[in-house]
Amino acid sequence: MSAPSPKVYGWCPGALRPMMSGDGLVVRIRAPLGRLSSEQAQAVADLSQRHGNGLLDVSARSNLQMRGVSEDNHPALIAALQDLGLVDTDAAAESRRNLLITPFWSKGDKTHTLAQQLSNALVSATDLSLPGKFGFTVDTGPAPILRNTAADIRIEHNADGLILLADGAQTGLPVTTGTAVEEALALARWFLNQGGAPDGRGRMKTLIARRARPSAHVAPLGTPAESPTLGQTATGQLVGLEFGQIPATSFAELATHGALRLTPWRALLVEGATNIAPQPGLILDATDPRLRVSVCTGAPGCTQALSSTRQLARDLAPHVPSDATLHLSGCTKGCAHPAAAPLTLTATAPDTFDLIRNGTASDHPAKTHLSAADLRASPDILTKGS
Ligand code: SF4
Repeated sequence: MSAPSPKVYGWCPGALRPMMSGDGLVVRIRAPLGRLSSEQAQAVADLSQRHGNGLLDVSARSNLQMRGVSEDNHPALIAALQDLGLVDTDAAAESRRNLLITPFWSKGDKTHTLAQQLSNALVSATDLSLPGKFGFTVDTGPAPILRNTAADIRIEHNADGLILLADGAQTGLPVTTGTAVEEALALARWFLNQGGAPDGRGRMKTLIARRARPSAHVAPLGTPAESPTLGQTATGQLVGLEFGQIPATSFAELATHGALRLTPWRALLVEGATNIAPQPGLILDATDPRLRVSVCTGAPGCTQALSSTRQLARDLAPHVPSDATLHLSGCTKGCAHPAAAPLTLTATAPDTFDLIRNGTASDHPAKTHLSAADLRASPDILTKGS
C-alpha cells in the first residue's frame, strides 16, 4: 500500500492566523525587517517557554516560529507580541508584508531604506490581494545572495544600479531608490492582472514560464554570490541552528550579545558579536556535518508525518559524504527541501524510509523499506550501490 498523499495548504501560517500542528499551534512571527532587538528576542524566548514548547524555528523565509502553543494561550501570546511591536494589526497586512531582506545591512543604508519603504507600502496596500506565499526580497548588497530563496519580486543590483526582477525572468527593470517600491507594487498588480493567481494561488515564476515578462524589463541581471558561511562578518557573528531550530534558552543567551537578525540559511546573525560560546542547538563550526542535512519537523510535531525524523538526521549526519547533502522528510511533501537533493530519505511508515538519489522527496526511490535501525547500523546504505 502506498503512503497517503500529504495535504497542500497553499497558505502560510502567521501569528494572527496560526496553523494547528501535531504539537499545538504554530505561531509564525514576521519580525519587522527580520530583526529583533536584544530585549524583543529575550521577551520572545520567555513567551516561548510560557506559552509554547520552548523551541523556536527559523524558517526558510527568515520568519521566527513558535511551536506548541495552545489555543487557550494564543490570545495572551498575541497581546504580548503586539506590545513588543512584532505583530501587524490584522492578518491581511501580516500576509502582505511577506518581505525578505539581506541581513547584511546598516541602519540608513540603501537596503534598510528600501526595505522599510516596501514594508510600509505593503501594509498600506489594502487593495492588493496576493497569494499567501507570494513574497518580495530586498537583496541590494554588492551581489544578490537570496536568489536561492523563494520569492516572487526581487529588488537587486546589477553592474549599473538597482533593478526590479520578476522571479523566473532573465532580465529586469532598471529602477532607482525613488521608484523601486512603486514599481515593485506595480509588478505585483501586473501579476494579478495577467491571471497569475487564478484561484487565489500562484507564483510569479509559473506565470513568467507561460507568458512574456513585462516589455520594459530588459536590463541584465547581476551575478549572484554564494550564500555566506558561518563565522565572523562585518555586521556580527553568523551562527548556525541545528536543523533550523533553537531552544528558547539558547536564543535568550544569544540575545545578550546583541540584536538578532533572521536569515534564510538556518542561521542567525548576532549584531556586533564575536566569540559566541557553544550553546545547545547552536552550530559555530562551518564544517559541522549537520549543516549538510535538511530535516523537517516530522512526528509528532507534524500531523502529516509518517515517522519521527530529527534524531535519525542527527545520527546520520556524520555519515553524509562531505560533497553531498541529505534531506530527511517525514512525508513526500518535502517541506524542508522542496528541490532535488543528492540523497533523500522519505518516510513511508514509522521508522521506515525510501531512499531517493538526486531527486525530491516524492521522486522514484532507488531503495525502499529501509528501517531507521538498519540505517543507523549501516549508514553506508546511503551511498552503497550508487
Ligand atoms: S514534509 Fe515533514 S513537515 Fe512537511 S508535511 Fe511532510 S512530515 Fe510534515
